Amino acid sequence: MNQIDNNKKNEQIVYLNGQFIPMTQSKIATQDRGFLFGDGVYEVIPVYNRHLFSFKEHLQRLKNSLHAVSIPNPLTEKEWLNLLNQLIKKHPWQEQYIYLQVTRGIQMQRDHLPADGLTPTIYAYTNPLKPISQETLEKGIRVITLEDIRWLRCDIKAITLLPNVMMKLAAKSQNADDAILISKKGFVTEGTASNAFIVKKGTIFTPPNSTKLLPGITRLLIERIAKNHNIPLVEQNITEQALTDADEIWLSSSTKEALPVTSLNGKPVGTGKPGMVWHKIKTYYQAQKQAFIEEYTD
Ligand code: PLP
Repeated sequence: MNQIDNNKKNEQIVYLNGQFIPMTQSKIATQDRGFLFGDGVYEVIPVYNRHLFSFKEHLQRLKNSLHAVSIPNPLTEKEWLNLLNQLIKKHPWQEQYIYLQVTRGIQMQRDHLPADGLTPTIYAYTNPLKPISQETLEKGIRVITLEDIRWLRCDIKAITLLPNVMMKLAAKSQNADDAILISKKGFVTEGTASNAFIVKKGTIFTPPNSTKLLPGITRLLIERIAKNHNIPLVEQNITEQALTDADEIWLSSSTKEALPVTSLNGKPVGTGKPGMVWHKIKTYYQAQKQAFIEEYTD
């Protein structure tokens, strides 16, 4: 089906195990280990001007996640690229975000121990990527702190996200937009679906990569920007007290980019408005995005 046919029908097309099919017709086997055990990993990749952004970094993280859970990578880099580019082409949106998931596959006899030689299930779809509203960027978001109730391998982008769902619900029930998670030892780990940063006296701090948090690609890009523009950034454990005393707090992810947090547990962060350092990083981030977009403009 070409793009025009697809637009006419206004139907989203997904990729499932070698086929592009309408989303309404995509079906997963009930014995898929992803369904029964949450036995799988995923990625979310932004698409600007119909091109995958930071593809290499996302693919490397996918490979790392697959390796960590001993699921064989079902496709080569070229095959992944080809699949995702086809998916992009089948939809009209200039800016998209791709969700892709690999589970260990179907096993008829439910058993925690995976059978040998399973065929991984590959699923991918795309959605329009809407920019964060100007209002949100001007006002910032409200966040609460919560105890990080997740497992000990948060560096793996696993589809098993029940604790994240529970913490997101807890944030909503307290009238907050999101939560920043605090480890048992009292350190900031990350957000429910984002990495965390604070600014104190002009220096940016973010927790070092470890098994306690996901190595975010946006976090990596922010680190590179800070380095290239001589903005001091230190990877360091952040105590709950340092979070409370921060001049600025931000969250980062591929779909939210860098988002300023202006209220923490009901109290203003710094001046209660998005800070100067966030503004700088945001401006450089947008410039980098724009350069990427122009690279692919005829
Ligand atoms: N941490 C968690 C738990 C996430 O789920 C995400 C993204 O969904 C991130 C961090 C940010 O990662 P990225 O910047 O690669 O989107």
